[in-house]
Amino acid sequence: MPDSLENLKAANEVLKNELAERIGLQARTDAIARLSEENPDPVMRVSTQGAVLYANFAAIGLLTYLEIDIGDRLPEGWGALIDEAGLSKTAIDKEMQCGDNFYILTLQSVVDADYINIYGRDITKTKETEHQIVNFDDLTGLPNRALFQDRLEQVLVLARRTGKLAAVHLIDLDHFKDINETMGHHTGDVLLQGIAERLRECVRTSDTVARLGGDEFGIIQVDPADADGVAVLAQKLLNCFANPFDVDGRKIHTNASIGITVFPDDAESPEQALRNADLALYHGKGEGRGTYRFFVSKMHEDIQRRRSIEDDMREGLHRGEFVLHYQPKLNITTNRITGMEALVRWNHPQQGFMSPAEFIPVAERSKLIVPLGEWVLHEACSRNKAWTDAGLGPIKVAVNISAVQLQETDLQELVQGVLEDTGLDPSQLELEITESLAMNNAEASIELFKDLFDLGVSISIDDFGTGYSSLAYLRSFPVQRIKIDKAFVDDIGTDENSGVIARAVTTLGHSFGMEITAEGVETEDQLSFLRSLGCDEIQGYFFSRPLPGQELEAFLKNYEETWALKLSQERRGSIIDRRYVTNAQTITN
Ligand code: C2E
Ligand code: CA
Ligand code: CA
Repeated sequence: MPDSLENLKAANEVLKNELAERIGLQARTDAIARLSEENPDPVMRVSTQGAVLYANFAAIGLLTYLEIDIGDRLPEGWGALIDEAGLSKTAIDKEMQCGDNFYILTLQSVVDADYINIYGRDITKTKETEHQIVNFDDLTGLPNRALFQDRLEQVLVLARRTGKLAAVHLIDLDHFKDINETMGHHTGDVLLQGIAERLRECVRTSDTVARLGGDEFGIIQVDPADADGVAVLAQKLLNCFANPFDVDGRKIHTNASIGITVFPDDAESPEQALRNADLALYHGKGEGRGTYRFFVSKMHEDIQRRRSIEDDMREGLHRGEFVLHYQPKLNITTNRITGMEALVRWNHPQQGFMSPAEFIPVAERSKLIVPLGEWVLHEACSRNKAWTDAGLGPIKVAVNISAVQLQETDLQELVQGVLEDTGLDPSQLELEITESLAMNNAEASIELFKDLFDLGVSISIDDFGTGYSSLAYLRSFPVQRIKIDKAFVDDIGTDENSGVIARAVTTLGHSFGMEITAEGVETEDQLSFLRSLGCDEIQGYFFSRPLPGQELEAFLKNYEETWALKLSQERRGSIIDRRYVTNAQTITN
């Protein structure tokens, strides 16, 4: 049976070849499997339900991190991603951090298969380089501004939580630009590197030294014991510049200035801290380079300024630095000067004339207004008495009374004493009390005003319209005069509603039998409007500014003389419209 033998042989040959082919195929499959297994990057296959079907060796690390095993499902949060990958024809990338390493995972679905392949790529190195570029300065290797701000934020949060201090030192090199320009940028660069190194050696490891840009460095000092501890580091930082820097064999001297902010006292946010330190730096530079300076908050500065004003005021009272100026008030129905307001002025030895708007509030807070107010009252009364005795007037002097004086002194007793002392007729004294003050404690005010009225002194309500009281309410007050606040005089002639308040106050005040004074009259238009309302008195720059005593005396004399002259000329039939007296105007109808 040679034929069948041949056939068998042939069949055997086919089987052998098939086997060889299969063995080869198996070897190839094994090799391919090993290839995937030995891939240093993670490779996984997951079912479309998210169960892990296969993970190579590198992917086991990821699974361990996710706390799952082969056969388990991927944790929550992956579901949507797997769904998306299953539906998408193109691959989907997902970034994943696993411990200190970063990966990009590419999810790829396979046509007609119910699984998804995941190929990972370790990008930790790229991330590190990115981090380095984004957060560190190329030249010095120090953290840059971005990282500095991040750290500052963290330090602030911590400082706030623990109640500990932190400080920011901003260092700016003096004249670095000159070095750069005259010696070249390379020299500048090497110098900056040298500085960075010395600064780094100065601080503790928990502190941060950063290059914020150009020739500016920033230091975050963590947990200094107190402000002294901050100053010690600042001095240490300045000392870094004591010795010259060696740049390519050349010795280069440079200096720096430092601005400092301390937490949590002076700033609430990193931005504010930097701004404050920058301000301190700027101020420090103005006072001479090569120094450090702490930021002083506005509040702190205000307190200091107030304290020094207080001290100076105490001294000034003894040294006679206070004087009174007098602003004449004109009765616009009779065109006669009927009064004047005494306004205190302080001739500060260093700062010159200081506005009462600045020192009166300080005097009130420190209660120094009590001796100052007594002095003002005494001075105004005795001066007015002297003018009356010299044949001027008689006119009334108005003295401002502060809220604190009302609380702290027996005003009636004081006024009585001063009148007796100076011999001034009580009808020649008026007390100006602000609206809000009178209304604050209405019952007590009414009592006090009655007592003063009994003495023969008159009361006017100052700054009327700035408080909330109604005019009708004022009716029950023994008050003889209302002063319309300047704001409502300014209002006159501005629009169709202008002057309504001035009008209302005048009409109603008159119906209660009170006289009306308009304050801060600056223009002729305001004057004629007020005249048309029947307002009694005006006070303001249009008629006269507040004048020193001697000038007021001259002003009164001239006005009276011009007035007498005008009257006699009118009697003789000549008409004078306006005449200028010293620097003010004689106002005629
Ligand atoms: P006040 O009692 O309302 O005094 C009027 C203020 O307006 C004065 O400022 C005066 O110079 C100013 N003035 C007068 N006419 C005009 C004008 O036409 N235009 C403008 N723009 N201003 C005008 P001054 O002298 O600076 O006084 C400010 C405030 O200080 C006073 O406001 C008063 O509240 C307080 N004050 C002044 N002297 C004393 C004082 O001896 N004792 C007390 N307790 N306070 C005083
Ligand atoms: Ca006043
Ligand atoms: Ca006033």
